[in-house]
Amino acid sequence: MTLEEKLYNWFGYSSFRPGQKEIIEEIEKGKDVFAMLATGGGKSILYQLPAFTHASGLTLVVSPLISLMENQVQELKANGLKRVTSITSTLTFSEKQERMARLQEWRLLYVSPEMLNAPTFLERLKAQPIHLLVVDEAHCVSQWGHDFRPDYLDIGEKRLQLGSPPCLALTATATPTVREDILKHLHMDSKRTSLFCHSMNRPNIGLFVEHVQGEEDKKSRLLDIHSHFRGPMMIYTMSRMVAEELAVWLEEQTTVRVAAYHGGMEAQERLMIQQQFINGSLDVICCTSAFGMGINKPDVRCIIHYHIPADLESFVQEIGRAGRDGERAASIVLKAPYDEDRPEGMIYHTYPPVETIKHLLMMYVEDNQTAEQLLAAWDEEEELYGRQIVYALKRMGWFDSDDQLYTANIERMAAHLSKWVEERIANRLQKLAVMKKWLYATTCRREMLVKEFNETAGQNSECCDVCGAEWPEVAVKKDLKVSEKGWRDRLQQLLGE
Ligand SMILES: [Zn+2]
Repeated sequence: MTLEEKLYNWFGYSSFRPGQKEIIEEIEKGKDVFAMLATGGGKSILYQLPAFTHASGLTLVVSPLISLMENQVQELKANGLKRVTSITSTLTFSEKQERMARLQEWRLLYVSPEMLNAPTFLERLKAQPIHLLVVDEAHCVSQWGHDFRPDYLDIGEKRLQLGSPPCLALTATATPTVREDILKHLHMDSKRTSLFCHSMNRPNIGLFVEHVQGEEDKKSRLLDIHSHFRGPMMIYTMSRMVAEELAVWLEEQTTVRVAAYHGGMEAQERLMIQQQFINGSLDVICCTSAFGMGINKPDVRCIIHYHIPADLESFVQEIGRAGRDGERAASIVLKAPYDEDRPEGMIYHTYPPVETIKHLLMMYVEDNQTAEQLLAAWDEEEELYGRQIVYALKRMGWFDSDDQLYTANIERMAAHLSKWVEERIANRLQKLAVMKKWLYATTCRREMLVKEFNETAGQNSECCDVCGAEWPEVAVKKDLKVSEKGWRDRLQQLLGE
């Protein structure tokens, strides 16, 4: 049976999308594959097809996106593909047990990264022949990536423990440095791995930066953007509070259906808002970077950055959610003079200060402790820093092959960790400097952006503001009225004046 026939028989599609077949062929040969594909580029079929059509063995998918995994499981089951399930932290103990007990039944198993770290689960997995290990959102592996997750740090090690099954690493955005890092940490041999990378350039998305004076000016431009584009929009902010305030404000100023979305909201509520936006019952989402991963909505017309992002990788990933239908779309950054300080503060805030490192080490670290014991030691407030510390100690080789600390030499440990933190901060600041340079570009923004990914942009008629482009005329038309009461009055009301 040809791959096309398999695709039709199992999934009902009559043809592959560009690039899919080549990747599946490599997987079928048992090769390691690194694939950088735009979200919405049909990446799930890359492992779903081999999972069900391969003669035997389990396809294990590690993903940080629990709701996405659950959706996919439901969708596959609805299409008659029953031998699929997910095991994540949202399940009860007995549900997990029940699904684990049936491991040999599953052809496709989705797991969250922390499940892989559970020793009992890993032991059971070792007894199963694994046909393919899929690492979704693989850039989370890399400490140089824009969305590093400590939960991902052990996937490479776990792969070895599972007998090094073939690996498929999937991501939408990775600079050449991050790509190298992903291969290294997943133990994929760079010479033998097949690489597939789509272009980062999205010619249908116009790139614009608006230098504004301050908050009022920003909001005024926001209304201009609304009346111009009239299609689905996403407004990215760096703060949960601003996301919520903007949503309230827009609801009062306009007739758009708008909601806020950020990591501080209940999972259920987030899921509902995400669904409403996807199915068109919401027009605008005011969100933090928590929104968007794994979301495929083809008709988003404009991505607005109300605050500047901390690096070009996050930026590219976020604006890449516009214009998936191939129609014209725009990315607009609203930048006020003081905005530049915001990401810098956040970068410093992400890492523990030297004093905190020392304090945490003295409080919790003991000789011969295992990484797991140490991870469990931190209380809730210290957890974020605690996980970073354990991660850094692992990377620096402070744990032996039994996962035990060699020695608890606090002074030396603290010195190493401080250096580690310094390097991380320096790297992030450097990325921020590139982002700032891009905001003040005097040459083509597109050229500059894709150069970060070792590409060139070529000709583009509606390129960027530096090239003289105007906001594109978009096809979606909907009557969107600014309410009669002036927005300045409303703003003052909101501020309680
Ligand atoms: Zn340009």
